Amino acid sequence: MKSAIVIGSGAAGATVARELQQIFEVTVIEAGKPFRPFNYSLASLEHLRKSGLFIDERAIRWLFPAMHVRKTAARMVLVNGMGTGGTTAISTGNALRMDRDLKGMGIDLDAEFEEISAEIPISTDHQHKWKKITQQLFEACSALNLNPQPMPKMGHYQDCAHCGQCIFGCPLSVKWDSRHYLQDALDKGAQLITNCQVKKIIIDNGNAQGVKIHKRFGSTLLPADLIVLAAGGLSTPVILHNSGIECQHGLFVDPVLCVATEWRNAHQNKEVAMPFYVGREHYMVSPYFDYLSFFFNKNWRKPARNILSLMIKLADTNAGSIQHKVIKTLSERDKEHLQQGVDLCTEIFGKMGIGKQDIFLGTLNAGHPGGMLPLTETESKTFHHAVLPDNLYVADATLIPKSLGYPPILTIIALAKRVSKVIKQEHTTQGGHDEIPL
Ligand SMILES: Cc1cc2nc3c(=O)[nH]c(=O)nc-3n(C[C@H](O)[C@H](O)[C@H](O)COP(=O)(O)OP(=O)(O)OC[C@H]3O[C@@H](n4cnc5c(N)ncnc54)[C@H](O)[C@@H]3O)c2cc1C
Repeated sequence: MKSAIVIGSGAAGATVARELQQIFEVTVIEAGKPFRPFNYSLASLEHLRKSGLFIDERAIRWLFPAMHVRKTAARMVLVNGMGTGGTTAISTGNALRMDRDLKGMGIDLDAEFEEISAEIPISTDHQHKWKKITQQLFEACSALNLNPQPMPKMGHYQDCAHCGQCIFGCPLSVKWDSRHYLQDALDKGAQLITNCQVKKIIIDNGNAQGVKIHKRFGSTLLPADLIVLAAGGLSTPVILHNSGIECQHGLFVDPVLCVATEWRNAHQNKEVAMPFYVGREHYMVSPYFDYLSFFFNKNWRKPARNILSLMIKLADTNAGSIQHKVIKTLSERDKEHLQQGVDLCTEIFGKMGIGKQDIFLGTLNAGHPGGMLPLTETESKTFHHAVLPDNLYVADATLIPKSLGYPPILTIIALAKRVSKVIKQEHTTQGGHDEIPL
């Protein structure tokens, strides 16, 4: 059997590993360690916050290695997951299908989404136990005719304890993350190497020969017949660059800004994150207790239980790049849309009797990077860019043509499933087997 290396175990990597194992001998290489939920008491950390020790968001990794934080030159905080499950393990479990633009390009992922709905439980079951403050926010949005929608979530949310710790790793394992797919792949015989960073892909004569990996005691070359890059929107372009393949400067990140106020005993920090959303053309709004701002932003020095916050998640302009540093700034258009989001949140709070003067903002951050090797109509059937050797594929958010401004996990999984099908078909054609229908 031919060998395949899958780089990354997040949304895309775990999907591809699960789909390809048994057709290939799959080895998943993951830079992070096996995921462990955050293990400290948030209440104790809230006390420690008063010491003024929490200065830089990047320090989070010392307490929670699965959360990797970096900053752009313009001080936007970028968050991604590093460990088994990738960013899905620190996600809030939101499950929206966001493939309208892909469909417009002739990419029909209906079959893949159907598979996903048979494999991942998705529901809005959490809404039966919403806290009073969530209901009040929902009613305010309804009264303003904003058409708020309960957020579909991946997992068994009928058992959600509404502890508010979604992004720290669900303590009850209610939330689905890509470690489930990874486990399926391992059960079928795939190998997993953790704590191992892929530096570059060795390409010789237009063929990918293997990957150069860095483990604790130095670098080695791991050979493979097929390589699938799924290291996420910020790492995949760097690995390609190190391998002599340039991506485009089309990085999007879906910037997030929280608009907050003081509300006695809101207890939003003990609520399921992002219970509902209001969709707008260039952004969405959703209730969200922002721990990054709570710990690191001076404006948020209030007791956690008394902070009430709405997140704006923006569909930003595809402009930005990453090599050693991330270069990403908000365009004038992005700033306009962000201001529209702030105005809408102010209106929602206004409906609840909160004055403009009582509103404060959070730290600009982002966690949905992608777009640097976007699919175009040219690749809508092959899912393979001409700049890549025939036996090297990209399967992660790097392929998404433009910012979704909405949760991307389901769409990334659907794309990764399609990439896997293309690879299987290519493989069976080469091996003279029956064709696999796309
Ligand atoms: C706090 C937060 C909450 C979120 N909540 C949601 C949500 O509710 N719903 C939703 O749809 N989306 C959510 N997202 C976004 C979503 O999780 C990501 O967009 C998605 O997981 C990206 O999938 P991916 O496969 O491209 O990359 P990832 O899931 O990030 O996986 C990439 C993997 O590659 C590994 N890796 C990186 N570099 C290397 C290397 N050099 N060698 C080997 N391995 C490497 C990483 O450690 C990681 O495990 C959230 C993001 C954040 C930050």
